[in-house]
Amino acid sequence: MENLQTNLQKLDHYLESVRKSGVSNYINGESRQAISGEQFETISPVDLKPLARVARGDARDIDLAAKAAKAAQPEWAAMSGVQRQKILHRVADGIVAHAEEIAFLECIDTGQALRFMSKAAIRGAENFRYFADKAPSARNGLSLPTTGQANITTRYPVGPVGVITPWNTPFMLSTWKIAPALAAGCTVIHKPAEFSPVTASLLVRIAADAGLPPGVWNVVNGFGEDAGAALTQHPDVKAIAFVGESRTGSMIMKQAADSLKRFHFELGGKNPVIVFKDADLERAADAALFMIYSLNGERCTSSSRLLVEAEIYDSFMATLAERVKAIRVGHPLDPETVIGPLVHPVHEKKVLEYIEIGKADGARIAAGGKKHAGPGGGCYVEPTLFTHASNTMRVAREEIFGPVLTAIPFSSEDEAVSIANDTPYGLAAYLWTSDVTRAFRVSEKIEAGMIWVNSENVRHLDTPFGGVKASGIGRDGGDWSFDFYMETKNVSFATTTHHIPRLG
Ligand code: NAD
Repeated sequence: MENLQTNLQKLDHYLESVRKSGVSNYINGESRQAISGEQFETISPVDLKPLARVARGDARDIDLAAKAAKAAQPEWAAMSGVQRQKILHRVADGIVAHAEEIAFLECIDTGQALRFMSKAAIRGAENFRYFADKAPSARNGLSLPTTGQANITTRYPVGPVGVITPWNTPFMLSTWKIAPALAAGCTVIHKPAEFSPVTASLLVRIAADAGLPPGVWNVVNGFGEDAGAALTQHPDVKAIAFVGESRTGSMIMKQAADSLKRFHFELGGKNPVIVFKDADLERAADAALFMIYSLNGERCTSSSRLLVEAEIYDSFMATLAERVKAIRVGHPLDPETVIGPLVHPVHEKKVLEYIEIGKADGARIAAGGKKHAGPGGGCYVEPTLFTHASNTMRVAREEIFGPVLTAIPFSSEDEAVSIANDTPYGLAAYLWTSDVTRAFRVSEKIEAGMIWVNSENVRHLDTPFGGVKASGIGRDGGDWSFDFYMETKNVSFATTTHHIPRLG
């Protein structure tokens, strides 16, 4: 990786067109301004200066996009899976070709560090390749024979889908939701997050250049309460794939109730990492630190609650505190930076307020605990470690979504399980122990959609991704994605002349 100076020069080049033309909507194969002509500004969290003017779509733009998606749906659905596979692989090729541009724009729009974002485009491309290769078998079903009856199931795309994404890692998350929808044969209307909209419009143009027909993938920028809400209410939109906060998920369900849509929700988390004294403590420390302080802690699967067995608690915390103090906060395009500025002053304020709440509730600050004076003077917050916390404190119960770790001691396996489950959320959990029987026993009892034993979050795209309780509804990954983006139809053939009751 180059140094910061070189990276800033490259950024200037990549920003040129974003500054000049702004971020537009993309509907039916055309870049367009909002029908109202209104725009909003996206700022860089590095220096709070404007990055670009963004089309501020509303219900009228959503309607236009939904009509385009509806019109494009039959042809896209009828295209052979092999043909869709080819197009989606070409989208992946386009992403790889633009990998550096995507990474740089993502860093400057979100504040995420380049060391992590340089892989975002590659992961996005992998998502496209994975689902591209599943497209030819997407319609496959089952044969379910019984006496006198042959049942054959088949699947078909549900129709135009609305995809609503959050601001934390917008590029990767958009590909994670949109690639399976397209592979299944659905057309898409995407509403990116207003805090970090820049890479979504680049992504859809890459897809168009790869040969995606007009109307198949549309992007409408705007705010949640107008463009987002209109998308969830539109009668032509058959399903909503949403990634964001739990309370927004609940709002969306209410908003959309009249149009009887199906929902896929990937929501918030307050994920426990449980460290037993028999664990490989060095690896456990590495993983716990990585899962809360990478991606600025703005990560749904972050290990935000650290539960440590009491006998090793003090020594484990001492090691951790030293390591946290050594984590480098800086400009997102500096290759040495681990933590960049948080996405927006509104979010920075929320995270700093939680740090004050933690202190007031009696948790001890072992590292960090305040704003950091970083380059550009933007939304930098020190990586923060709270020790001696209890699970009743707000910093242990509520999702902070920043580089703040709350560590709680436990004295028995039962207590660890009970603390881990004492939360409204249930996305991920991490378990560190060398006792395999305990690993099975505890993972049985933990209420979470995903559990990693002796590992940080390492994704395998075949596996189901999603949460329980307030962390979500539904699963992505493997065939689970198609379960959401496709309807299943059963056709039953009589194989005998069975008795039919005669009435009248
Ligand atoms: P958010 O809920 O505020 O916004 C997400 C998206 O929803 C944005 O595009 C926003 O404009 C839109 N929106 C807001 N109100 C809406 C409404 N009434 N109708 C329709 N759309 C609306 O979330 P955020 O602050 O952008 O993202 C952070 C949250 O996302 C965290 O809670 C995090 O845990 C969660 N997240 C979850 C996962 C996961 O896989 N479970 C992944 C990443 C982020």
